[in-house]
Amino acid sequence: MLMKEAREKIVAFGKRMEADGLTLGTAGNISIFDPELRLMAISPSGIPYEKTTPEDIVILDEEGNVVEGERKPSSEYLLHGAFYKTDPEARAVVHTHSMYCTILACMGEPLRSVHYAIAEAQTDEIPLVPYHTFGTPELAAAAAKALKKPGRGLILANHGMCAYGPSIESAYGLALTMEWCAKVQWHCMAAGKMNVLSGEEMQIAMEHYKTYGQKKSDGTHTQGYSGV
Ligand SMILES: [Zn+2]
Repeated sequence: MLMKEAREKIVAFGKRMEADGLTLGTAGNISIFDPELRLMAISPSGIPYEKTTPEDIVILDEEGNVVEGERKPSSEYLLHGAFYKTDPEARAVVHTHSMYCTILACMGEPLRSVHYAIAEAQTDEIPLVPYHTFGTPELAAAAAKALKKPGRGLILANHGMCAYGPSIESAYGLALTMEWCAKVQWHCMAAGKMNVLSGEEMQIAMEHYKTYGQKKSDGTHTQGYSGV
């Protein structure tokens, strides 16, 4: 079985996504990219997370052809592929319709630096991708265009959000942080007052993030609220 560990992680994080309230039903999808095999493991289309098994995960090549798997892949495999093609460092993508990110998406609002915690995404603003029909090459192309490296997240207009990173743990941790920041921003907007941090302050916060948390064996530090 190809990408066994990646398959198991996608199943585990799919269950977490549901338990953490980041999704409803079968909405959203997770992928992991193997840079040596040049293959992507992605959750299947339309199977509830609690019923998904490692065998249900679909393995695709970079052109989107099924290399291994009986199931139909997530309809957003092109969207996931856009991250791996745009950023050679990308190893995992979490796409979901979490409530507060989706509210901003439906308001036509980017996720702004209302709280410094958004520094985890290595940017001072998570951009808004213009609306395109789900599952289309147009949506994938618009996401690739909006992605400003090293920023690690996107808000998809009238749709949801994406977070990616060097591991599924970091992509998932960022998805949680983005949802929390979106909740803060929405409440500020609803209350009619929002103080957005300056680009200068956010640069300082991003520098602090480099040495925040615990030092890991590779010399880098754990990042963000999830400590990964
Ligand atoms: Zn979606």
